[in-house]
Amino acid sequence: MGGITIEDVAAAGAFLEGHFQLSSGLHSPRYLQCALYLAEPARAEAAGRQLAARLKACAAKLVVAPALGGVVIGHEVARALDVPFFFTERAEGVMTLRRGFTIEPGARVLVVEDVVTTGKSTREVIEVVRERGGVVVGVGAIVNRSGEDNPFAPLPFTTLLTVSIPTYQPAECPLCKQGVPVVKPGSRPQPSS
Ligand SMILES: [Zn+2]
Repeated sequence: MGGITIEDVAAAGAFLEGHFQLSSGLHSPRYLQCALYLAEPARAEAAGRQLAARLKACAAKLVVAPALGGVVIGHEVARALDVPFFFTERAEGVMTLRRGFTIEPGARVLVVEDVVTTGKSTREVIEVVRERGGVVVGVGAIVNRSGEDNPFAPLPFTTLLTVSIPTYQPAECPLCKQGVPVVKPGSRPQPSS
């Protein structure tokens, strides 16, 4: 089964070049704005089906993803697996499960993300699921830009696209040294017309 190619992502206008501050705090000259790729429901559905097919062997009974980035793809993976979907969110910086979402003890849970860079938020979701008594049986993401094959080993980890994009600590960032203004892509305002 074919995955997404970087050409697909670029054609959707979701592969951005510039000087970006990632949610991890690292800087990067390129950014994958998955929200733009997933803006077309048919693309989101197809990506969810592909990830679900690769993760079917995990036999998950629930999908959990972090808001906001993981919500669309998490929902589509859950739809393809025909299981419920919950999302975690940050409350005062701490990843939590709210809104009445309840994990049954021993429930087999798949954790889904849009982009894995450092894997920090994914790990936080894994911890939340485990604290609530769930059993994490796998991790899926649209894009792996972590530079590692599986940052969550020994859990199975599947992605549709692996990309190698440099990241820098701000103090070592060549774009900062050139004085290029840095933007946070998640909160980047639309250019006014
Ligand atoms: Zn920089």
